[in-house]
Amino acid sequence: MTKPLNPFILADGTKPSCMEMLQLILDGQANAEQQVYFKAHMDHCLPCFKSYDLDITIKELLKTRCCGDSVPNELVDQIKTQISKNLAS
Ligand SMILES: [Zn+2]
Repeated sequence: MTKPLNPFILADGTKPSCMEMLQLILDGQANAEQQVYFKAHMDHCLPCFKSYDLDITIKELLKTRCCGDSVPNELVDQIKTQISKNLAS
């Protein structure tokens, strides 16, 4: 029947927001199908593209600064919150 085009849609039919999709990607929890979908989605979704770009930049920056591979999750969350606020306004 109707197969969901968006691989992020949950079993109960809930469609995640752009930000939720982005978080799955950045947390490394998205599967290959979701990653492909999201990359295509970014091409026509400016908020996603902007925040993805920003988030990657921030993570890279933090990696360099913290000289390790783990970035404190609270910090990343704080930054993400800030970004979504910026996007909403
Ligand atoms: Zn989007």
